[in-house]
Amino acid sequence: MDNSNEFIRNLIQLSLRSKEVEIGCEECDEALDQYVDLLLAGEDPVQVMPALKQHLAVCSCCHSEYEALLVAVRSAMADDAP
Ligand SMILES: [Zn+2]
Repeated sequence: MDNSNEFIRNLIQLSLRSKEVEIGCEECDEALDQYVDLLLAGEDPVQVMPALKQHLAVCSCCHSEYEALLVAVRSAMADDAP
């Protein structure tokens, strides 16, 4: 049944985006680039990856990595500017 498969897939996607889902440092590390990209593109990454935002709030290790990445990407963007 294709329809029910799609329903289940949507359900899984929904639960992955839910705030209740916790991710580990590995998943955080993998998604961090994308998170920062979205942020700097003016998007709201929290809407896309609430679990990552939540992890950053509780994991000081990943949070400092996130801030370092943000600074690095921002300075790279500043270098590109005319
Ligand atoms: Zn972490």
